[in-house]
Amino acid sequence: MPQANRLARTTCPYCGVGCGVTATLENGQLIAVEGDREHPANYGRLCVKGTALHETLGEQGRLLKPRVDGEEVSWEQALTATAERLQAQRSAHGPQSVAAYLSGQLLTEDYYVANKLFKGFLGTPHLDTNSRLCMASAVAGYKRAFGADAVPCSYEDLEEAELVVLVGSNLAWNHPVLYQRLKVAKERNPLMRVVVIDPRVTDTCEIADLYLGIRPGSDAYLFNGLLAWMADHQRLDSVYLERHTEGLDDALSTARHNADSVEVVARECDVDAERLETFYYWFASQLHVVTLYSQGVNQSSSGTDKCNAIINCHLAGGKIGLPGAGPFSITGQPNAMGGREVGGLANQLAAHMDYHTPGARELVSRFWTTQHLTPALPDAPGYKAVELFDAIERGEITALWVMATNPAVSMPDGEKVRRALAKCPLVIVSECVANTDLLPFADIVLPASGWSEKDGTVTNSERRISRQRGMLPPPGEAKHDWWILCEVAKRLGVGEAFDYTHPWEIFDEHARLSGYENSGDTQRLFNISGLAGLGQAAYDALAPIQWPVTQQASRGTARLFEDGRFATANGRAKLLPITPRPPEQPLSDDYPLRLNTGRVRDQWHTMTRTARAPRLMNHRAEPFIELHPDDAAQAGLTDQGLAKLTAAAGEYCGRVRVSNAQRQGEVFVPMHWTDCFTKQGRSGALIKGYTDPLSGQPEAKQGAVAVSKL
Ligand code: SF4
Repeated sequence: MPQANRLARTTCPYCGVGCGVTATLENGQLIAVEGDREHPANYGRLCVKGTALHETLGEQGRLLKPRVDGEEVSWEQALTATAERLQAQRSAHGPQSVAAYLSGQLLTEDYYVANKLFKGFLGTPHLDTNSRLCMASAVAGYKRAFGADAVPCSYEDLEEAELVVLVGSNLAWNHPVLYQRLKVAKERNPLMRVVVIDPRVTDTCEIADLYLGIRPGSDAYLFNGLLAWMADHQRLDSVYLERHTEGLDDALSTARHNADSVEVVARECDVDAERLETFYYWFASQLHVVTLYSQGVNQSSSGTDKCNAIINCHLAGGKIGLPGAGPFSITGQPNAMGGREVGGLANQLAAHMDYHTPGARELVSRFWTTQHLTPALPDAPGYKAVELFDAIERGEITALWVMATNPAVSMPDGEKVRRALAKCPLVIVSECVANTDLLPFADIVLPASGWSEKDGTVTNSERRISRQRGMLPPPGEAKHDWWILCEVAKRLGVGEAFDYTHPWEIFDEHARLSGYENSGDTQRLFNISGLAGLGQAAYDALAPIQWPVTQQASRGTARLFEDGRFATANGRAKLLPITPRPPEQPLSDDYPLRLNTGRVRDQWHTMTRTARAPRLMNHRAEPFIELHPDDAAQAGLTDQGLAKLTAAAGEYCGRVRVSNAQRQGEVFVPMHWTDCFTKQGRSGALIKGYTDPLSGQPEAKQGAVAVSKL
């Protein structure tokens, strides 16, 4: 007998906007989705990817059973093999021979358990995440300036701003609902201006009052120039600087040294000087300015410096801690922020504490009751993503557990990463999908539950914690990631610390740790102790809320630093001296074109889900190479023909798209295609593994390639 339809509220699993979704279930099937009208991230809106979520479900193509050495086995056999082989590697080569590589697709509860097991109980600091490829430079920039990885703004600030500056962000394609909100706000407020700073003319330019098509990698010149211009035109907020910051003199003299006039900056950035000065005037004249930046800034060998060059200008103008003001980093993935909260980066310990945070190691040790363990909680950071795979290639790391991500596609130096995986003695992969480029490297394959099946929380780009809710049973024998980790922990003999029976218990522990022995401490912004002790029913019903959430701020916190006090030792924000650096991947006679990589509107990462919805494939059906008409003509290429890109790291083939949106001398390729879809359409094969020295984020947007006809 048919059952009545049931509605369930959850969160979209794709981008960092973190839209609320209302799902309709009928006879055990998820038959429709729409935007959750009450969710503060989207108020009922969804982008095209979000509206197709129900079309990407189903058992076909899913990983259904555990496998060991290519043979299907029972869960008992798979879990025992995982524990025994991890233990064998540890015993033979030491605790630091074991590593984990996680994902911004995991839920916070999965992340928490993985971080606790690897750092706390296996004693290895080598746990990193694909979020390293997405926002690590933004994190490092915030920490240097504010003393904490703390995004100051809310989405409302975009709507309340008089000027919104979008840097290295194709918001229209990559964070579409935020773009829609900004577009509506601009229509409602004719005085609002939008400036787009991006080497490519993207769809985001549709709402731009001013577009600056800068040379890739020249952002630091542009913002150094802005700081110098503000000083030269008496547009610094001297009261704010005096009361709440330090470092202006150094930052300003360095900025003046390399960007001392509009003409010099215009030349370095390859933009029109008049338009540049218009931007400077607009920025300096408004108090309510949001600068929103994304992977175009972060994915650079000097990404952290670029972030700080932006933050410098906000601090210098007092444009922070106010409605409609602040430097706002937008993350790519749905839970890049949640991963940071639990310590899911190799340089973090737990709950936003770093290894060098005074007393942090002892505090975490006491909380996890690992004081008497050998090995103890690590005392120094582990390898960041690129370093991690280098260490595997060197034979230093001999066991790797990968969860919910595909480094065989997404890492730079793709062929090197594949060589490392091939020689790693133990590769364990937790995965939803039956056919990925990574699985042939796996010794143990563990089928994991996915969106609509798993239960937990994610945190979006504005620090808002939302529930993802399980509505459907996992297919086949798939299990939740946190459960898999706990079962392995039991077989490693540390099950007492991992006896969770439901994600709410994990969330509760995570919330307690965030405020442990720390009540009232303003030095640690990440505090969600106000969400501890919820119990299962309240956790199930948890409404979206922005951290910090404490007893004093029980309804969350929309905006940070309103009182001008920062999380540094003296409470002052720091302006940093920034010396611009060119990309590490040099152009040459062999590789004369600058390569840019990124997402397309209707696909998500390696397309394991979005490619299942035929209508999403209509937008861009195959890998492509977008380039300027003059570059196409010089290489004898025509629109829709086939071409090959060659780089020092590898090759890529795709359909030619000739476009004036591309600057001359530069090409763009999408990041989504894998060997499972098309041979030689992987952008990761073209990028060398150069990284930012502070954040470890790879330089994915400034490769060097040559193009030829195929
Ligand atoms: Fe999902 Fe992002 Fe689209 Fe919102 S904007 S529906 S979070 S992909």
